[in-house]
Amino acid sequence: MKRGLYIHIPFCKSKCRYCDFNSYSNKNELQDVYFAAMKKELKSYFDRFGVIKIDTVFIGGGTPSFVDSMKIFDILEIVFRDFDIDTSDVEITIESNPGTITREKLMDYKLAGVNRISFGVQALQQNILDKLGRIHTTEDFFNGVKLALENGFVNINADLIFGIAGQTLDDWKESVNKILELGVPHISCYSLKVEKGTPLQIAVAAGIEQGNCSDKLDREMYYYAKDTLKAAGYIHYEISNFAKPGYECKHNKIYWDQDEYIGIGAGAHSFYRGRRYSNVEDIEKYCRNIDANDAVVNQIKVLDENGVNELDVSTLTYSNNEFSESKAMTDEEKMLEYVMLGLRKTEGIRWANFQYRFSKNARELYADKISLLKTKGLIEVDDVGMRLTDKGLDLANQAFMEFV
Ligand code: SF4
Repeated sequence: MKRGLYIHIPFCKSKCRYCDFNSYSNKNELQDVYFAAMKKELKSYFDRFGVIKIDTVFIGGGTPSFVDSMKIFDILEIVFRDFDIDTSDVEITIESNPGTITREKLMDYKLAGVNRISFGVQALQQNILDKLGRIHTTEDFFNGVKLALENGFVNINADLIFGIAGQTLDDWKESVNKILELGVPHISCYSLKVEKGTPLQIAVAAGIEQGNCSDKLDREMYYYAKDTLKAAGYIHYEISNFAKPGYECKHNKIYWDQDEYIGIGAGAHSFYRGRRYSNVEDIEKYCRNIDANDAVVNQIKVLDENGVNELDVSTLTYSNNEFSESKAMTDEEKMLEYVMLGLRKTEGIRWANFQYRFSKNARELYADKISLLKTKGLIEVDDVGMRLTDKGLDLANQAFMEFV
């Protein structure tokens, strides 16, 4: 069982037009108090549970590279102090926006222990970057990768978005191929989601512009990336993720393997000691609660006295916020989630791993569902396990729904 630590930095230089993440460009005056609160939250884990072993750290956001790099340095210092970390093996990722990267910041990250950098580049055509509301240029990205390589970062990811109205297949091919030329060993390709309430969605709803391209073009783009990256030696190891051998993201694998993770910061999710819970999203409330030593955890499931309903536990304090009071996931919930998460990986589920983890035979347990999905051509099954077919990877949501 591996364990990850996620640290959420909710600050951005400017809000992208498609973004509905818990991130803000107008709350920078809160940065100092927010980092102080996160340090306190980190320490609260040490106080409650002692030294916890951590295999990966992921500093995400928001834009972690937007804030002063010494803040990142300081927070990682606490992580190294209060958690058990094997420095020879740990993966420490920082997400960055190419428009906010400098040589000095990269040097600080290196000194702080960061060994993986993820660039949110999304596209390499200025008109697409403008449509998405990205603050960086294509040149910023090339320069960022160059600086990262010069500063000894080998493990680099580039995030790309496809399926955008106005983005042509040639645009997409250019983005994929230029990133391949750079030799970036990990590439994530996501189809654009027009999320409710974002400026992009509001403009689409008002008929001012289009959000997505046609489904047909979206699929052509996905297939192009899949075929091209595979031919270039990348392993397609998860629906949206491709990596050169040895460069799969260890932190994300923790999520898909249903291993444990602790989330620090506003809105961060955790799966720890058999419980799922998440912190309050609101930055001010998160800081206030931590300052008052209240619980930041607001969604721990707790049974009422009849053992049925969930109660609002937003007022629980650290002192009584012991996990014994929260509702553990049932075995059925855990098994189902294990299957759903596992099917995201192209290697799928191994029967032996399921048996080892739950002492149950998944093939027998889900016989009806497996048979249905096989008939629909969404999964393939053999003596080792089951995995999504190419059609299943395309229609992953449909396959997941069958299991629910
Ligand atoms: S940089 Fe990332 S987190 Fe920030 S607004 Fe853009 S997409 Fe959202």
